[in-house]
Amino acid sequence: MQRFTNKVAVVTGGGRGIGQEIARALAAEGAKVAVVSRSESSCGKAAEEINADFPGSCTAYAVDVADHTAVQELAKKIGEDMGTVNILVNNAGVTRDGLLMRMKEEDWDTVLDTNLKGAFNTVKGFMRVLMKAEDPRIINIASVIGLIGNAGQTNYSASKAGLIGFTKAVARELAGRSVTCNAVAPGFITTDMTDELPQAVKDAVIGKIPLASFGNTKDIAEAVAFLASPAARYITGQVLAVDGGMTM
Ligand code: NDP
Repeated sequence: MQRFTNKVAVVTGGGRGIGQEIARALAAEGAKVAVVSRSESSCGKAAEEINADFPGSCTAYAVDVADHTAVQELAKKIGEDMGTVNILVNNAGVTRDGLLMRMKEEDWDTVLDTNLKGAFNTVKGFMRVLMKAEDPRIINIASVIGLIGNAGQTNYSASKAGLIGFTKAVARELAGRSVTCNAVAPGFITTDMTDELPQAVKDAVIGKIPLASFGNTKDIAEAVAFLASPAARYITGQVLAVDGGMTM
């Protein structure tokens, strides 16, 4: 079944990890995907890898989502290149962990600017084209940490909790135009981001997950593909936790 034939998707942070897997899942079912990430080499490589399996599906765009002007220009460019955008996935995200007592202002700003303002920038940029598109969807990648908090991640927790509030407000504002907006809140997923964690922290986390393991990028991509599909047309303003039962 090809759920995304004739659909155009934009996936931020598509260069690696969860974002690359989301781009692949959408491309696998017929979508044309704009793969956006910070560095040219990262989104270029991801697009090349996915195109090797699904020829002509992906185009790479290197943009910093925290840069408001650059994102508005990106939206214009993708609109011209692709003609429409049906699915926007706000997945770009970073961590700059540290206890609040020692957290530098720049670490707060970098995380909020990327994880939260980045979504504001893209929704502002793409909302007009989405409002005119068929089956329009916005999916924001939040985190369980935005739901339950985490010591050493005040910046990240605030950014993801903010993203959840943003999701619900956007869902209400755009519902009249049939644009749905939902969040997926991953638990701990094996990627470059979690590879940085010390083994002792990983072991402690696994102890708190009822399904007793980290998830993988496909677990998240499958949930995003469902929310992006026509089958999810009546779901909006929701947060779907994909976390092995961590936050039940
Ligand atoms: P990775 O660190 O593996 O990849 C992050 C991607 O985001 C990269 O492609 C990176 O670009 C891109 N990116 C980062 N900053 C920017 C920016 N300013 N502008 C454009 N692109 C940017 O992360 P994950 O795949 O692990 O995480 C993806 C999302 O899922 C994030 O929002 C994260 O917070 C969330 N999440 C992850 C969890 C996990 O356990 N891994 C758990 C819960 C949520 P480049 O490749 O060019 O550096």
